[in-house]
Formats: sequence, C-alpha cells, structure tokens
Amino acid sequence: MQTPQLNKARRIVIKIGSALLVDGQNACIRQSWLQSVIKDIAKLRQQNCDVLVVSSGAIALARYTFNLNRHKLRLAEKQAAAAIGQIKLAQAWSENFSVHDITTAQILLTLEDTETRLHYLNARSALDTLLKLGCIPIINENDTVATSEIRFGDNDRLAARVAEMVGADQLILLSDIDGLYTADPKTDPNAKHLPIIKEITPEIMAMGGKAPTGYSSGGMATKLAAGNIATTAGCAMAIAFGKLQHPLKALQEGARCSWFLPNTSTYSARKRWIAGGITTKGIVYIDQGAQNALYAGKSLLPVGIKKIDGYFQRGDLIKIANKEGLIIGSGVTAYDSSELNQIIGLHTEEINNSLGWEGPDEVIHHDDMVLPSPSSTSAEANAE
Ligand code: GLU
Repeated sequence: MQTPQLNKARRIVIKIGSALLVDGQNACIRQSWLQSVIKDIAKLRQQNCDVLVVSSGAIALARYTFNLNRHKLRLAEKQAAAAIGQIKLAQAWSENFSVHDITTAQILLTLEDTETRLHYLNARSALDTLLKLGCIPIINENDTVATSEIRFGDNDRLAARVAEMVGADQLILLSDIDGLYTADPKTDPNAKHLPIIKEITPEIMAMGGKAPTGYSSGGMATKLAAGNIATTAGCAMAIAFGKLQHPLKALQEGARCSWFLPNTSTYSARKRWIAGGITTKGIVYIDQGAQNALYAGKSLLPVGIKKIDGYFQRGDLIKIANKEGLIIGSGVTAYDSSELNQIIGLHTEEINNSLGWEGPDEVIHHDDMVLPSPSSTSAEANAE
C-alpha cells in the first residue's frame, strides 16, 4: 500500500517532544539535534511545503531554575516553570531558524482556544496569516495560564488540533519510539510493529494502554487520541523515531514508522472542528429510535433523549451516547442543560409550552453533528 510521502505534502505539522529537544541532565537545548531538524524543515520549505512546529520543552528547560527540578511540582510552580522555559524555547527556535533566513512566530494556545468556536476561528486566521507571510509558527500550550482542569496537558492532541485547524495534510509526531506496536515492545518480545493503520478501531485504541499520569502526559494513548483527531480531519499522521540527527530526512528516506491514513469522508470545516473536540461539557443519552434517526441523517429532537449529564450552555460541544452508554457522536447543542432538562422526552409541539418561549425543534441539528462510523465508537460515556 502507498504510504504518505513527506515530500508530497503541502502543509505539515511537526510535533517535537521534550525528550528529543531538551537534554534532561543539564536542562539545556540539544543544539546539534535542533539544528539538524531545522535543516530538514528548511528543505521541506524549499519544496513549497508550509511547516508548523508544535514544540514541547518549556517546563523541562526550567528544571534547574529556582529549584524547580523536584519530581512533582505544584500547579503554580509548573505555570512559573513554563513561563521561564518558554522564553528560552522560543529563543532557541528563533535563533536557529534565522541561520536559514526563516522567521519564526510564537503561538501559545489554551484548550479554550481550540474548543470555543470564536477563539478557534481567531487562532486559525492568525496561523493562516503567519503562513502566508512565510513564517514558521512555533506552537506550545499556554501552560502558564492553563489550569489542570482546562488544559491539553500533552502536545500530541494539541498538535492534532492544530493540524485540523490549518487543514494540514500530514502530522508527524517525532517520538522516542518508531511507531505503534501491538503491545509494549519494552515488556513484550512478541510485540509487532504496525507500519500502516487504516482505521483507528477500538482494538487499535486499546494498544495505546492507559495515559501515563503526571505533568507531561504524552505516551501512546495520547498519540492515538491525536490520530483520531487528525485522521477524522483528513490528515495523515505518522509516529516516527526522532532520537537521531535529521529525523525528517530519515523519514523521507523510508525510516520505519507508523502511518495512520486519513479518513476519506469529506467533513465541512465546521464538522471537522466538532469531530476534533476534546472537552466534554455534557452528554445526552438517546433511545434506539433516535439513534436510528441520527444514522439516517436526521437531527436530534428532545423526544429521543432519555437523560442528560453535565452543565452546558447553548453553543457548547456535547457528546451523544446511545442507550448502552457508548459515545456515538458529538455536536453543538441548541439548548443549555437546564432548558434541556425541561423538555427531555417531549414531542416537538410540546416544547414551547413547557419552556414558555419558542425554542428550536432540534437539540442538535444534523449540520452541527458528527457521527463517526459505528465501528470506531468505543469510549464509555463519562462527562467531565
Ligand atoms: N507544554 C509542555 C512543555 O512545553 C509539554 C507537554 C508535553 O510534553 O506534551 O513543557
């Protein structure tokens, strides 16, 4: 099967983890590695490819400043460490790119910037403008203002959300492993490397194991979650080994990696944003009749809803769960949770009476809803 080629891409997002970029012993940038990856990126640009970098490393770089090197930092200390390290990180990227006459631009995003439609559109137009100007955006999570409840916490999903936002055709996660294995290769000698993943099924998701706890989560689970976001948005994703000089050149020359092939369904930009949603403000549980109607292309009406979980506002992204409690899709709600509680199970003609005002017929309009194919729905309903 034909795997995606780096030199054919028009727009690539490259995610670089702290372990590759930062020398953990000395809390400094691995200069020669950085220079090698920048040379690879400069080459891609000569091939008319837009490149965006999602770079971790801010917290790792601040490790020895003001004794911030304890294993577990408090939230405020992590925020301070990110502020100290981010300026060094941005400087390293900027100085090393300037050798190639390339201007970089720092973008710090919060989860809110990708989950709230208006913020998302703002961030997208800023990124588009930077790319049009010929800059390379260097992106990280805005860890200094992010609290533990409302943060990505890992740059894998952030990078996937960025790839979806800018319509990238490839997302490359440079990692300390050369791809996805059927089991953890460090502990299972029978673990098999998977070079191509056509669809991220529940079996594939299970290969990621549990997400590690702690500050910088990473791990295979978040990479697979990133794969879900990217491939649903029509973007191919690679997990590739980055712990060598010129990792992108190596990839281009056929180094072993895992490619996750893009989903071919053509969602509108709005639906791609809905599909890539990370937070869950709430869940609506629907009955079998409503589930059948949704798969037949209909909108979600109050009559098909059995119960709701969570507190949400009109316009928030919420999940849809079937009667077994499996998440089958997501969408933008036309009602907030307290209004919806008043009209659960009601027929359309009863809605206005119950509310005392004229509400929309649909709780989630078909145009505001994404229902992945039944085989790829796996997670159990669990409102945050
Ligand atoms: N944003 C974090 C940092 O720059 C890293 C998150 C991650 O490791 O994925 O330190």
